[in-house]
Amino acid sequence: MINGTAFRTCPLCEAGCGLEITVKNGSVTRIRGDMDDVFSHGYICPKGSTLKQLHEDPDRLRKPLIKRNGVHVEVEWTEAWSEVERGLGAVIAAHGRNAVATYMGNPSAHNLGSMTFGRVALQGIGTKQRYSASSVDQAPKQLAGGLMFGTVQSVPIPDLDNTHYLLMLGANPYASNGSLCTAPDFPGRLEAILARGGKVVVVDPRRSETAQKASEWLAIIPNGDALFLASIAHVLFAEGLVSIGAHVAPHLNGLDDIRNAVERFTPEAVERACGIDAATIRRIARELSASPSSSVYGRIGTTTTAFGATTSWLVDVVNTLTGNLDREGGSLFTLPAAGGATTKGQPGRGKGFQYGKGSSRIKGLPEVMGEFPVAVLADEILTPGDGQLHALVTLAGNPVLSNPNSGKLDRALESLDFMVSVDIYLNETTRHADVILPPPSHLQRDHYDVFLLAFAVRNVANYSPAVLPLDDGQPDEWEILAKLGMIAQGAGVDADPAVADDMAIEGLVASAVRDSSSNICGRDADEILAMLSSSGRRGPARMVDFMLRSGPYGDAFGAAPDGLSLDVLLANPHGVDLGALRPRLPEVIRTSSGKIELAPSQLIADVERLWAHATSVNEGQLMLVGRRHLRSNNSWMHNINVLVKGKPRCTLQMNPDDAASRGISQGQAVRVRSRVGEVLAPVEITDDIRAGVVSLPHGWGHSVPGTRLSVAGEYAGVNSNALTDEDLFDPISGTSVLNGIPVAVAGA
Ligand code: SF4
Repeated sequence: MINGTAFRTCPLCEAGCGLEITVKNGSVTRIRGDMDDVFSHGYICPKGSTLKQLHEDPDRLRKPLIKRNGVHVEVEWTEAWSEVERGLGAVIAAHGRNAVATYMGNPSAHNLGSMTFGRVALQGIGTKQRYSASSVDQAPKQLAGGLMFGTVQSVPIPDLDNTHYLLMLGANPYASNGSLCTAPDFPGRLEAILARGGKVVVVDPRRSETAQKASEWLAIIPNGDALFLASIAHVLFAEGLVSIGAHVAPHLNGLDDIRNAVERFTPEAVERACGIDAATIRRIARELSASPSSSVYGRIGTTTTAFGATTSWLVDVVNTLTGNLDREGGSLFTLPAAGGATTKGQPGRGKGFQYGKGSSRIKGLPEVMGEFPVAVLADEILTPGDGQLHALVTLAGNPVLSNPNSGKLDRALESLDFMVSVDIYLNETTRHADVILPPPSHLQRDHYDVFLLAFAVRNVANYSPAVLPLDDGQPDEWEILAKLGMIAQGAGVDADPAVADDMAIEGLVASAVRDSSSNICGRDADEILAMLSSSGRRGPARMVDFMLRSGPYGDAFGAAPDGLSLDVLLANPHGVDLGALRPRLPEVIRTSSGKIELAPSQLIADVERLWAHATSVNEGQLMLVGRRHLRSNNSWMHNINVLVKGKPRCTLQMNPDDAASRGISQGQAVRVRSRVGEVLAPVEITDDIRAGVVSLPHGWGHSVPGTRLSVAGEYAGVNSNALTDEDLFDPISGTSVLNGIPVAVAGA
């Protein structure tokens, strides 16, 4: 677009707000909330309007970089691809494909190119050594959903717009805007609960921005959430408050197993270890039960703990016991327009979710969702022997700042034989890369939230064409990913991404016409392909068109003429509202039993460890937790001046009692030490954090040499993952403990 107004979904976080973007003479002149967006109704946060600054950031890479004599220099794409072919080819020839690891960062989940063509790259590389930010984030929730309901997309979503009572653990949507619960203006939706006479209870060691607005704050001890929830379940049984929904009960396995599992978790037995008194636990259980509707929601503060999977499971155990699973105002399953694991296959029965098909060479941690936990990545690189990693491909990730024991990972990356990164920045991770391949800016890409709209609080669909054209010679992101995979397969530097694109869409169509549950089952694949290609679309746009038309609201390629297609979305630039979430049981079930597995054996087996935790209180030990800021986005967006300027945010929050007992005063520099590392940070003394807990935000630490982040370097902060410990993880999911790290703090 050269002049005009474009409407698009913000791709920066899970909220998916609609933006109105004004373009004059090829430049963006204004970004504001799209008042007509069917989902966000004009809401945006401060990050949304900075897509312009992100696009224009002089540090954003526009050309590939190759490292020569330790320095990154700009090269043309042909030279970069030749170097990728040489470097990856040499490692694969010498050590095999499993000597190459891949790492997908969090932004990949917000990104249409990587959601549609990331797997083309991964399949081309052909390694089992896959890693991602999931194991420092949401993997436990998806694992628990998979075991209970059958797929890793089977995550019940709190019905924010209708609930009367929301119990939120380890979530701070006033800063994050929500996660695994796509809800633009999450804060406004919480305020609406209060306005209609409902209640919001926040469980968090910190009185977070969200806790400050809530009806009640419960200052839990880190790692105490699973005990708290198990005890709520105990109270529900003990007081005869269990009330399974009538349409849920016939489809439930394991109710007696849960009753037995939580029998000893009385409020008195857990109160010391979780830090919430017995009377309060009983009251919360009764309130959840008595409210006209209620929903329990747990997020990053619960998943990145020693009991990540068990906590995630217990969230939905409590939702089920109070009768709020799959119920309006409770927790419901989204029915995504682009389809997905919960819409494919036979309704009500499936293969179920398996994990642990392999285990990591180091520590023997299980494969989850086709990946190994990042807790072992550094050691898999550094430890000699069969299976040692020699090369790494990163896609939109900065694991040096986001993974545990970052100092060790930093050393590990430096030791690799070869590394290639697809990234827009030369950052703390990509500075180790031999080649960096920059995708276009966010305004130059099409967008559809393939992944995140599967976890939305309403069923909506919204497609955003690129606002600005590609720069001369700049390949689209999907073309970079497809070509990377083809070169890794040995197709050579002249490989044409269009070939991979055609193969990918042909595979999708062939699979759908054979699937008895598909709306195009039995149709002629060539006819479908001709219809898809008649528009001239290629790449992600053609794939999204296929997903929409073969999805639950789709036009079934003419069989349902009023149904969805990409053309329909393009004609509705503010999105299409497909309605509120509705009960989906039993069709949403995809377990092999055809039942909801309320007591999966893997999680029941963890109850003994949880019980041991109830009796192993370690008083006097300071525990470190993370935190997030509205103007930050994990480890990136710190190079946008308007977002980082002002009061330093990378402070160590500490309770006044803890500070006084150590003789620490406000603003003083303190030394924070853990088993694996040490940082110096200014202290912020506040009673917004419970005694015994300190907090550092994650994603900072931009002072390392060799990066190209001029603004971030001025606001460097310190890296909280210099303190997190790769030996601390949830043994079921392998997810790292980022909240609840033992530390010592002393004046510097
Ligand atoms: S809340 Fe998220 S999606 Fe909405 S404007 Fe902010 S960054 Fe973008």
